[in-house]
Amino acid sequence: MKKLFKNFIIFFVFFFCLAATAQSEIQNNKWVVVGAGPAGIAVIGLLLDLGIEGSSIIWLDPEFDVGRLGHYYETVPGNAPTWMYVEFLTACKVFNDCAPEMIDELKKMDQKTAFPLHVIVRPLRAITQGLLSRVQAIKGSLISLQFDDDLWHVGIESTDKQNVHEQHARFVVLATGSHPKELHYENKQAIPLDLALDKSTLASYLTPTDVVGVFGSAHSAILILKYLSELPVKYIVNFFNKPIVYTVDMGTWVQNQNAGLKGSTAQWAKEVLEKKPPKNLARLKNKPTILRKWLPLCTKLIYAIGFERNELPPINGTNNLIYDDISGIIGPRLFGIGIAFPEKFSYPDGNIEYRVGLKFFMEYAQRVVPEWMLCKGEHAINRFSNMESLFMINVL
Ligand SMILES: Cc1cc2nc3c(=O)[nH]c(=O)nc-3n(C[C@H](O)[C@H](O)[C@H](O)COP(=O)(O)OP(=O)(O)OC[C@H]3O[C@@H](n4cnc5c(N)ncnc54)[C@H](O)[C@@H]3O)c2cc1C
Repeated sequence: MKKLFKNFIIFFVFFFCLAATAQSEIQNNKWVVVGAGPAGIAVIGLLLDLGIEGSSIIWLDPEFDVGRLGHYYETVPGNAPTWMYVEFLTACKVFNDCAPEMIDELKKMDQKTAFPLHVIVRPLRAITQGLLSRVQAIKGSLISLQFDDDLWHVGIESTDKQNVHEQHARFVVLATGSHPKELHYENKQAIPLDLALDKSTLASYLTPTDVVGVFGSAHSAILILKYLSELPVKYIVNFFNKPIVYTVDMGTWVQNQNAGLKGSTAQWAKEVLEKKPPKNLARLKNKPTILRKWLPLCTKLIYAIGFERNELPPINGTNNLIYDDISGIIGPRLFGIGIAFPEKFSYPDGNIEYRVGLKFFMEYAQRVVPEWMLCKGEHAINRFSNMESLFMINVL
């Protein structure tokens, strides 16, 4: 009886150790990817293509609806030709397994034209559904992130706020996106940029007596000036800091890809705004004297002055996040990608840009994700970029 009991104890300890080893093996290879916008989709696609088991990947997002593009920008005229979306969609084999017909449809469209963004949002939505069935998906938000005992402790709150729990992972990728920057001029109603970018929603905010002030001179600002010039408003005032910049196609590379105007918006700026602007539109250099005179006349304001990183919970107790803008490394096996952590790119002529856009996210991911997989835990950050550098991204 005693011997039987001893054997039982040995068997129990052996089984417990085996289970613990298996558990830590799983944790040792586990990835958590936070964010299901285009950048998160690119990372999930590449991890699966590179042979990481779907059961080792946790994908976290409150909605799984293609991030900001899916939520707000479907009707916005795209600023990239179709072939750039096709490059994104055909970069991962698993994308084709998820939405083959939609990818083929896009390939048949005019590759040089920049269509409204729904042409890319729809295939991305179908791909998201396909990926969700291949990985462990959690509908919720990252609420804490702590590195302890060589593992990331990832705190998660479910979208319905009913459940908070922790996951453990070896690798964490933040693809958590950005939101429009705002100014706050007192007593003036601001129309949120995301809503103003949809023409019919913008129209619902306006009356014919409105004098609308638009801040900015990049893609979003010019697009909104175009919309306003086609809507019944009394007057439009554009306060700008920098002159309009157009994308320059140099054949082998495209300069000012982020800052430059493209597609139908660029055409309108060149042919209408710069040559024969609407009579009810004034473009004014943003200076205190100008603002003092013109702001009191404005009844509504729109800030199209760039984007800033979405707020993240403290990481290892700090909010002062820095990342290497060439490797994407933030900390030990912690990485950033997408509009929140863009790649710094040097053009052959020495010009430098932080690259934002689907094609660029994918090219960057193809370079860095295999490197991330080999990361043993060392920081390897040799060049830093901080939140301030994001303010240089006055892109859209
Ligand atoms: C008006 C406009 C037009 C554009 N046009 C084009 C275009 O024509 N072509 C092109 O290639 N690019 C275009 N872009 C640029 C770019 O492709 C988008 O900005 C893109 O959506 C950024 O992708 P992302 O995945 O980095 O971030 P997002 O799309 O913002 O996705 C981030 C995701 O992370 C989630 N998230 C954030 N915080 C947390 C958290 N704590 N926990 C869990 N999840 C979280 C968010 O809910 C979201 O789903 C455009 C951008 C704008 C603004």
